[in-house]
Amino acid sequence: EIVQLIRNRTPLADWPADFFRIEDNIRRSGLLLGNTLPRGEVLRAALVLGSHNILEQLNASGLRGRGGAGFPTGQKWEACRHAAGSGHYVVCNADEGEPGTFKDRVLLNCQADLVFEGMTLCALATGARKGFLYLRGEYRYLLDSLRAVLQRRREDRLLGVDILGQPGFDFDIDIHLGAGAYICGEESALIESLEGKRGVPRNRPPFPVTHGYLQQPTAVDNVETFCQAAMVLHIGPEKYRAIGTARSSGSKLISVSGDCPRPGIYEYPFGVTVREVLQDCGAVNAAAVQVSGPSGVCVPESEFDRKLGFEDLPTAGAFMVFDDSRDMFEVARNFVHFFAHESCGFCTPCRVGTSMLKQGMDKIAAGHGTHYDLAEIDKLDRVLQTTSHCGLGRTACNPVLHTLKHFRPAYEARLKSLEFEPAFDLDGALA
Ligand code: SF4
Repeated sequence: EIVQLIRNRTPLADWPADFFRIEDNIRRSGLLLGNTLPRGEVLRAALVLGSHNILEQLNASGLRGRGGAGFPTGQKWEACRHAAGSGHYVVCNADEGEPGTFKDRVLLNCQADLVFEGMTLCALATGARKGFLYLRGEYRYLLDSLRAVLQRRREDRLLGVDILGQPGFDFDIDIHLGAGAYICGEESALIESLEGKRGVPRNRPPFPVTHGYLQQPTAVDNVETFCQAAMVLHIGPEKYRAIGTARSSGSKLISVSGDCPRPGIYEYPFGVTVREVLQDCGAVNAAAVQVSGPSGVCVPESEFDRKLGFEDLPTAGAFMVFDDSRDMFEVARNFVHFFAHESCGFCTPCRVGTSMLKQGMDKIAAGHGTHYDLAEIDKLDRVLQTTSHCGLGRTACNPVLHTLKHFRPAYEARLKSLEFEPAFDLDGALA
């Protein structure tokens, strides 16, 4: 029935809601998954602290954004607060579109109050009066429950005018539904989309903290970051800093999927090794783990002692397990098809380059590839890295380069062996 709905191009709004209710498989409790804070508790404490002390606590905690880039959250909010503008905004990036990542869906399901608490905290710290939750189009089924949580918060005076009786502390949140474009997970493309325009990444600088939504100072963070910020205030910066590693404090939610008997959402302190996660999810015979989605890092078995954290393996949350029965060439081919499909088409290197990459991998899969094609992919990577407008293009070759490095035989087995060396040099010119 699902296949039929897809084939018929049935709008998501008309899908039976039950199709989206996949039971969440939460494996380990922790800061975010094991705590249910009384609604408004963090905010009441924050009001006593005031914006200056909130920012100090965030800076002292070492909290870094959980979207992957890891920018210090306190610094970002501080920059937003001090940026000049006619109005400040808070945006929660809930456009969770990275393949293999599904932890924000769980937070929005189980900890929606904490997400909104974090956003309101950000408003208090930055002076914003308006917030948006940019919700991934495929998560439309969460819309009603999220709106209900917002309504409850308004009734409890945790949103609206004079929040918790504090004169002048006005803030409210709207939910904006995305339309299925992967690129709208990039913060500046998300803001363009929020403004009703085509989701294309902006030139940076200027950054959203000074020129974001409607060119006004905007703090954009992802769902998990807002939850973590609320937790910093709840447990205090010292305790928070004691979790994790020196440069990666706190905990991290990991979406574990692939060849393991216990996939689901796990919460770990930063610094956990790939091997420990594999043991917890019961993976045996794992040959590789793709950390942080297709644009991330392919970690082979020989590197399973590497640690998740900004010092070694930064991750937005995806942890895809591939056992030794998997053909890693096909895994990489699947990823480059994804990039070619999701390239927004704004800049030529990525629009054309991701298509060329896809064609090159398809050619090798069909048995028509040679070493020349591998050299071409290498050249393409340099072009994409140096000339693409945004991160999608810059990292599009990663799946191929990483699997080529660690699983070269999967490629070699498909290459045609030529009896004669081609009479071309690598630049395609006649030798
Ligand atoms: Fe769009 Fe790709 Fe260019 Fe990014 S690199 S702006 S996704 S075409």
